[in-house]
Amino acid sequence: MKEFESRIRAYLKERSWDKLRPADVAKSILIEGAELLEIFQWDNQELEEVKSDAKKMEKIRSELADVLIYSFDMAVLLGIDVETIVNEKLDKVKEKYPAQLFNKDANAKNPGTENVYQQIKQQYRSEGK
Ligand SMILES: [Mg+2]
Repeated sequence: MKEFESRIRAYLKERSWDKLRPADVAKSILIEGAELLEIFQWDNQELEEVKSDAKKMEKIRSELADVLIYSFDMAVLLGIDVETIVNEKLDKVKEKYPAQLFNKDANAKNPGTENVYQQIKQQYRSEGK
C-alpha cells in the first residue's frame, strides 16, 4: 500500500496537483461516484448479470478507478494512512453490525432491509454516533 501511495504522490506532484484543496477533491470523488452510479441508471441487474456484461464491466472498472484515484489523492494530500483508516472503519462496522445477527440468506439480495440493520442504524443515529 505504501508503494501505491508513493505512486499517487508522484502522480500528483508531476502535474502540480499536490496543492489541491481538499474540498475540490471531495467534490471530484462524488462527481466520479455519480458517473459510476449512472452506469446503473434504469437497470437493476443482479451481481452475476453485471459480472457477465463485459461492456458494463469495462465502464465500471474505469469509473471505479476514478473514484479510487481521487480517494487516494485525498488521503495522500492530507497525510492519511489508507490502510489504517480502512482497518479502523472495518473494526467499527464489525462491532456495530455483528455478523451473527444477520440472516445471511435473506440479506444477500436486499442488504439494509433487515429489521436488525435498521434498528442498529437508528440507535446509533439517536446516540449521535
Ligand atoms: Mg469518470
